[in-house]
Amino acid sequence: MDAAIVTEQLTKMYGTVVALDGLDLRVERGEIFGFLGPNGAGKTTTIRLLLDLIRPTSGRATVLGHDCRRESRSVRASIGYLPGDLRLYGDLTGEQTVRLVSGLRATPPDPAFVRALVAALELDLSPRAAAYSKGNRQKLGLVLAMMSRPPVLLLDEPTSGLDPIMQHVVWELLRAEAGRGCTVFLSSHVLSEVEETCERVGMLRSGRLVAVEPVASLRGRGRRIVVTFAADEPAPDLALAGTRVIERRNHTVALEAAGDLDPLVKSLARYHVVDFRTEQPSLEDVLLGYYREEARR
Ligand code: ATP
Repeated sequence: MDAAIVTEQLTKMYGTVVALDGLDLRVERGEIFGFLGPNGAGKTTTIRLLLDLIRPTSGRATVLGHDCRRESRSVRASIGYLPGDLRLYGDLTGEQTVRLVSGLRATPPDPAFVRALVAALELDLSPRAAAYSKGNRQKLGLVLAMMSRPPVLLLDEPTSGLDPIMQHVVWELLRAEAGRGCTVFLSSHVLSEVEETCERVGMLRSGRLVAVEPVASLRGRGRRIVVTFAADEPAPDLALAGTRVIERRNHTVALEAAGDLDPLVKSLARYHVVDFRTEQPSLEDVLLGYYREEARR
C-alpha cells in the first residue's frame, strides 16, 4: 500500500529564498507525525505544497498515492486542513460556518460526530465567528478540519491558543482518529504535544530536514536527572550507570542520561535517596542540540 505522505526532493524557492530544500519524507498510514522547526523553517510551506496551494520549484509529493499537483482534487478530498492563519467569515455563526464547510466537503460529515467533537471541545457554535476568542477560533478550525473524518489531517499548530486542559482534549481526539487509521501530520512548537501524540518527528531548519527520529529517542535527549542523597554520598559509580555527572553540590548530584533510566535506578537503590527529579529540556534545547550537531557535520 502507498504511504500516506511521500515527498521526493520537494523544493520551494521564493526568488532567492529557499523555503524548502530537497525534502525527502515518508509518513506511514495511521501515523501521527510531528513536524518541528523554528519560525521560518518551512513547515507551513510543506503543508501548502501538499495541498497544492503553492507549487513546488522542483520535486514532487504524493498523498495516499495521489500526486499533489496532477491529482490535487483527490488529494484535497482526502485531507482535513487546519491552517495556522485560519480565516473565517466574521458574519457567520459557528453553526453556519460548520454547515457551509460541510456542504463543500467531498464526504459530508456525520452530524453525530460533529456534535461529539463540538461537545468534546466545549465549543459554543451560536456566536458569530467575529466574536470568537482566539481559542474558540482554533476550536472551530479543528472542528472544520476533523468533522468529515478524512483519512489525512494536516494541522498547523493544532493546539495554538488553547489552554492546557483543552490541549489534552485535542491530543486525545487526534490519537482516537489515528487509532482508526487516520494519518495526522502536525507542525508544532510544543514539546509536550509532540511527546503526547507523535510516534516520529521530523526536524526542519532553514528548509532542510535535519533529522527524523522516533519520539522515544527525542525524549531521552539532554534529559537531566537531579538526585538528592540523605548524606553526602560519593556515588562514584553513577557515571557507570549510563549517565554523566554535570554538577555536584552538597547532597545533590545533577546527571545527564541519554537512554533508559533502569541502570541508574538500580545503582541508586544502594543509597538513601531523599529526592529524585528528572528535568525535561525545552523543545528549543533539544532542537538546538540537533542543529549544533548538524552544523558540526
Ligand atoms: P512558522 O513556525 O513561523 O510558522 P514555518 O516553518 O511554517 O514557520 P514557512 O512559513 O514555511 O515557515 O516559511 C519558510 C520560509 O519561506 C521563510 O523564510 C519565509 O519567510 C519564506 N516564505 C514563506 N512564504 C513566502 C512568500 N509567500 N513569499 C516569500 N517568502 C516566503
